[in-house]
Amino acid sequence: MATGTAHLPVVVIGAGPVGLAAAAHLVERGLEPLVLEAGDEVGAAVREWGHVRLFSPWEYDVDAAAARLLERTGWEAPDRDALPTGAELVGSYLAPLAATPQLAPRIRTGTRVLAVSRDGVDKTRTVGREGRPYLVRTVRDGRVVDLRAHAVVDASGTWGRPNPLGAAGLPAIGEDRAGPWLAGPLPDVLGADRKRFAGRHTLVVGMGHSAATTLLALVRLRDEEPGTAITWAIRGRSPARLYGGGDADGLPARGLLGSTLKEAVAAGAVTLLREVTVTALTPPADGSGPLTVTGTGRDGAPVDLAVDAVAAATGFRPDLDLLREVRLELDPAVEAPARLAPLIDPNLHSCGTVPPHGEALLAHPDEGCYVVGTKSYGRAPTFLLATGYEQVRSIAAALAGDTAAAQRVELHLPSTGVCSTDLGDREAAEVAAGTGRPTDGVGFATGSAHGRSAEPVAGSCCG
Ligand SMILES: Cc1cc2nc3c(=O)[nH]c(=O)nc-3n(C[C@H](O)[C@H](O)[C@H](O)COP(=O)(O)OP(=O)(O)OC[C@H]3O[C@@H](n4cnc5c(N)ncnc54)[C@H](O)[C@@H]3O)c2cc1C
Repeated sequence: MATGTAHLPVVVIGAGPVGLAAAAHLVERGLEPLVLEAGDEVGAAVREWGHVRLFSPWEYDVDAAAARLLERTGWEAPDRDALPTGAELVGSYLAPLAATPQLAPRIRTGTRVLAVSRDGVDKTRTVGREGRPYLVRTVRDGRVVDLRAHAVVDASGTWGRPNPLGAAGLPAIGEDRAGPWLAGPLPDVLGADRKRFAGRHTLVVGMGHSAATTLLALVRLRDEEPGTAITWAIRGRSPARLYGGGDADGLPARGLLGSTLKEAVAAGAVTLLREVTVTALTPPADGSGPLTVTGTGRDGAPVDLAVDAVAAATGFRPDLDLLREVRLELDPAVEAPARLAPLIDPNLHSCGTVPPHGEALLAHPDEGCYVVGTKSYGRAPTFLLATGYEQVRSIAAALAGDTAAAQRVELHLPSTGVCSTDLGDREAAEVAAGTGRPTDGVGFATGSAHGRSAEPVAGSCCG
């Protein structure tokens, strides 16, 4: 890293769990972070799914440097085996962390980063590029302000960019007009959004844990509210990957989610439609009544559904627009840092575990610019907090010049318990046959496959 800019802050984009952990590690290293958060409060994205319970117990949810900062304030660590909700993650961890005297003055909420560039040079200019500060363009209360930074750590997540419902990565025809029927990936079915679903017909699309969470909440609602109907559409041929490893899952809550859903489908509470491609959404002519969802299903059979709400849990994609003026090396398919992508590519390697990785794998041609956290996984849906915490520990060490600590990466993730069974092989066969779709929603770790140039996974499920 250039030393001429060392007096400038390290800008961290996003005050989610990984952005705040980055700030804690930077402070511990004697560096000066400046965290810019678009939301009015820290943890803005997590707050939006505050009603959802994590499947990772507290043990995996708290970053070590963050805990060290918190412990100085008399903070009591939550029970390491308990599973927090998103709201509890914010209330018992992120909010107190942001309020510590070390971080509070270094966080600006209500500040959205619009773009990142190198001060005085555009992306094409090579001569004199190195050593220039980063220019971070922000907007706060409608006022655009440019800041200078020594380095940039983009931890802005992917929550704001859900994948569209339509096939081929494009919105279904009419999707832009279907807003009133689209309930988002994780509506609060049993709480704030209950009325929207009670006694009505909901279509859930996707095959990740967000879909499973919404489906199981709807099943509970169905027990309480007569007339509640649930249809579940998946693009692949088999839901086996989501049903998961059950008792064999290293995170029991994650295993239970899949096995409970399997029972609900078998019991007829949920109507499962396989191999569905949604092509069009047609709102009723007079604007009230059900939405018509059309497409194709198994063997090209037509799908024609009238639904009151759609929960599209089809995964997320990173917002790369804000990084357009910096030189990044991203995988063309996964949209993750090029050297990380082969380790997490959902076509080939969909275990929830990942080899330990840090600064070296996350570096880009523009030195000192990093994409971390769930955004570092691009379109891959298997990111876990513990992975992000190790990423930012290593990056902070590198920025502080401690190369040895930056290179010494360690990560222990609980395995899913499905990777050594035939589920993964079945899934891989489906993909090979062109019927599976591994990125069909937010999934956090299932299946098994080996390929591309993925390194062996130490201590993980994919051996
Ligand atoms: C429902 C759900 C359950 C999950 N459960 C688990 C689990 O059990 N275990 C686990 O390990 N992981 C889990 N994850 C995955 C992952 O750990 C979380 O998504 C986590 O919140 C990712 O943290 P992050 O800091 O990378 O991103 P986020 O939490 O998304 O934070 C990004 C922050 O950046 C802000 N931001 C966005 N754009 C800008 C901008 N342009 N300028 C400034 N700020 C911006 C956002 O407002 C947000 O506050 C879950 C994810 C979801 C969605």
